[in-house]
Amino acid sequence: MSETLFIADLHLAPNRPHLLSLCLDFLAHRAQKTDALYILGDLFEIWLGDDDDTPTYPDVLKALHNLTGNNVPIFVMHGNRDFLLGEGFVAATGCQLLSEPVVIDLYGTPTLLMHGDTLCTLDVDYQAFRQQVRHPKWQAQFLAQPLAQRRILAQQARAKSQAKMQTTTEEIMDVTPEAVISALETHGVYHLIHGHTHRPAIHQVTINGQTAIRRVVGDWRDNSAKIIRSTPEGCQLIDLRKG
Ligand code: MN
Repeated sequence: MSETLFIADLHLAPNRPHLLSLCLDFLAHRAQKTDALYILGDLFEIWLGDDDDTPTYPDVLKALHNLTGNNVPIFVMHGNRDFLLGEGFVAATGCQLLSEPVVIDLYGTPTLLMHGDTLCTLDVDYQAFRQQVRHPKWQAQFLAQPLAQRRILAQQARAKSQAKMQTTTEEIMDVTPEAVISALETHGVYHLIHGHTHRPAIHQVTINGQTAIRRVVGDWRDNSAKIIRSTPEGCQLIDLRKG
């Protein structure tokens, strides 16, 4: 069976044990049968650097390592929460980091992969923040601080973003159609898969009279997740449940 799976937005955290167990179960069983696994960002709720010592994270790293050890390639893209995943993570898991945006050949269909946050262009404050924290110099300075200090800074940033989310409209939190069209046009492709918005769906987009498809991978809940399964016959959103 030829099959590729796409997941995103697990937001793994120690205070969500059901979610962790769903993920470990997925990596140990369902994912073992696939040609390749793509994790399109926000695997972890927060990643403070490759020395992050959050409890439960070692279990995830080990499960990823077991899967790559069984010759299932895993491609990981940074999300807006775990953009500091680095070479230490790669060494611990055998995953390959993908820098976004990237076009892959998905059973003959050129497919653009993104986390999705860069498509939410109406959120001007966030885009400015993103530009700052993705800068190598900012990252080097952040990572040079003790882990405890990084944790405090991340909590402050999180509190600020949560306060802001309460006053941000649904529209601003979603992708803008113009950004989607521009991304597809820039890369000359008609198929896009992304996550981030937590709005799993399949959308049709018209570009220069041609139909393009935008597929959105869902976020993970404690007992279920909407993921994308691709085969040579096509792509579908499927429900993942434990067991
Ligand atoms: Mn995200």
